[in-house]
Amino acid sequence: MPTAFTHGLVGGALAQAAPVGVPRWKLVLMLMIVAILPDADVIAFSLDIPYSRPLGHRGFSHSLLFALIVSLLVGLAVFRRPARFTRPWWALVALTFLAGASHGLLDAATDAGLGIGFFIPFSEARIFYELRPIRTATVDPIAFFQRRSLGVLWSEVLWVWLPLLAVSAVYHLGRLLFRFTRKRRPVRGKLAP
Ligand SMILES: [Zn+2]
Repeated sequence: MPTAFTHGLVGGALAQAAPVGVPRWKLVLMLMIVAILPDADVIAFSLDIPYSRPLGHRGFSHSLLFALIVSLLVGLAVFRRPARFTRPWWALVALTFLAGASHGLLDAATDAGLGIGFFIPFSEARIFYELRPIRTATVDPIAFFQRRSLGVLWSEVLWVWLPLLAVSAVYHLGRLLFRFTRKRRPVRGKLAP
């Protein structure tokens, strides 16, 4: 898995696309938690659940169905405003789903362990991408702070952080351009002098 920093960063970054008027920092925090949450399944190791089983590491908690369930629960329990079932509320639920799904999508690009059970419980297949440039981080927090982790972090900076920064920059530039061109558009019925 990539580190929790990277999962959280990707989840939190999705808040940039939230509807206007939604308190950003609360949303950032919520999306970060949702993006990190699937790795709570490491508890499976201490419960002697084999890695390859549907409830093992990278199993159901990394599936798209799990992301959908979590996003709906968060939507119902946490997002009081905008009003439930309105368009902006669904937009927040969709962002929460993307934050949850992003976890497995990133894990599938790591270079060790088993693949991701995206379609559990409908299929137990474990899926990896052909290209897996992200180095796998250890689940042991003590081992993480040892030297080898710098290489792991570097692969995440290169393959996740920098592309994310580029996508965010393009997104904000696009929004700015959109606003600018809208302001300059003449109001219908009024002729330009
Ligand atoms: Zn994971």
